[in-house]
Amino acid sequence: MSVLLIKGGTVVGPTGATPADVLVDGETIAAIFAPGRGPQDVETIDATGKYVIPGGVDAHTHMELPFGGTFASDTFDTGTRAAAFGGTTTIVDFAVQRTGEVVQDGLAAWHAKAAGNCHVDYAFHMILGGFNEDSLKAMDQLVTTEGITSFKLFMAYPGVFYSDDGQILRAMQRARENGSMIMMHAENGPAIDVLVQQALARGETDPIHHGITRPEALEAEATSRAIWLASVAADCPLYIVHLSASKALEQVAAARDLGRNVFAETCPQYLYLTLEDQLGAPGFEGAKWVCSTPLRPRDEPHRADLWRGLRTNDLAVVSTDHCPFCFKDQKELGVGDFSKIPNGIGSVEHRVDLLYQGVVDGKLSLQRWVETVATTPARMFGLYPRKGVIAPGSDADIVLYDPAGRTRISVDTHHMNMDHSAWEGYEIAGKVDTVISRGTVLVSGDTYHGRAGHGRYVPRGLSDYLV
Ligand SMILES: [Zn+2]
Ligand SMILES: [Zn+2]
Repeated sequence: MSVLLIKGGTVVGPTGATPADVLVDGETIAAIFAPGRGPQDVETIDATGKYVIPGGVDAHTHMELPFGGTFASDTFDTGTRAAAFGGTTTIVDFAVQRTGEVVQDGLAAWHAKAAGNCHVDYAFHMILGGFNEDSLKAMDQLVTTEGITSFKLFMAYPGVFYSDDGQILRAMQRARENGSMIMMHAENGPAIDVLVQQALARGETDPIHHGITRPEALEAEATSRAIWLASVAADCPLYIVHLSASKALEQVAAARDLGRNVFAETCPQYLYLTLEDQLGAPGFEGAKWVCSTPLRPRDEPHRADLWRGLRTNDLAVVSTDHCPFCFKDQKELGVGDFSKIPNGIGSVEHRVDLLYQGVVDGKLSLQRWVETVATTPARMFGLYPRKGVIAPGSDADIVLYDPAGRTRISVDTHHMNMDHSAWEGYEIAGKVDTVISRGTVLVSGDTYHGRAGHGRYVPRGLSDYLV
């Protein structure tokens, strides 16, 4: 195994930014030295002028997800390669149990899709989409033997992934017993379906009505209900996924102020994009930005509130909810009926950059950037200290980030398997320069050295944030 010294850079973590040299031995970090104090006779990478950060951890992706009569367009191969280009060296994808399926069968199918195809390391959450008596036993088994310690339930999508309040409560009680975490898609699905049917009956079929029929109130209500249900389940750990709206954030903040085990993530699209500017684009164009929860109105305070929530830790994590669909033949399934547009945006390649732009814009500190894209997701989901930190003994997942570089996002240059970009034309005042996964250089400059099969399954432990 090779020894490598990353020399001359500034190592950034949640607690500070310090000039230091990082010694990698094989797949792990061996030592951190004061500048110039490391061994002289080893291979070096010059990190002068660069930030040296732990590889990104994207805790919410959906490679090859079956949805709306089609499949998310990135495979584990194309999606994890794109992740690597963007400085993300671990993904946590959602294995899926659908109604009528056995949980373990759904998990086995997900392992079969991923095994041998990933360019970066991967772990799984489990979607419980057909909750029943057997699901309860399966939860225990996944926690103890499969390294899966978080379970996603849906308050939306009746007839597809939906769980009712009784099912949710039982899953929460079980999670409280076995130490795992419940992740919640918090939107009131049955109420949304009424609004959708009424809109379609009025002839409102354009993509913007996807957002209008999923109002903030129905995200806030579901978030609040999930928080109360978790309190009935003895303060079961609860993680709200893809939080998009101010009033949902208020619910999370209030619960956290009471010391509850309530956590939340947001996604880059909610920090930057809006109902009017993107979802309301002329014609059918807005279909590119159909995702759930939806983009929120421009003139309401959502984006400013979400950035503030990231600073104050009411939002602990930024994930992508990467769920790409091509425009042609996929998003187009919803021409003339917005409810048939597959839900999802592809961003796995851009999360680290888009959040770095928050640093440039004075919305986040450098330390908080690293914390929200790498360290906290690793700690939240039982991957720490193997992932999410530059420290002796940790996996050598390291990104050299160039604050003097520039990134222009475009379908012409991205590596995701999509025929458009939700971020077309976005410019970032920074650039991923070098990406290392378990000691192997995957990306240097614009050259790719990685391969499908390098990435391994990482079984997870319990969350670091629970006692
Ligand atoms: Zn969801
Ligand atoms: Zn999702």
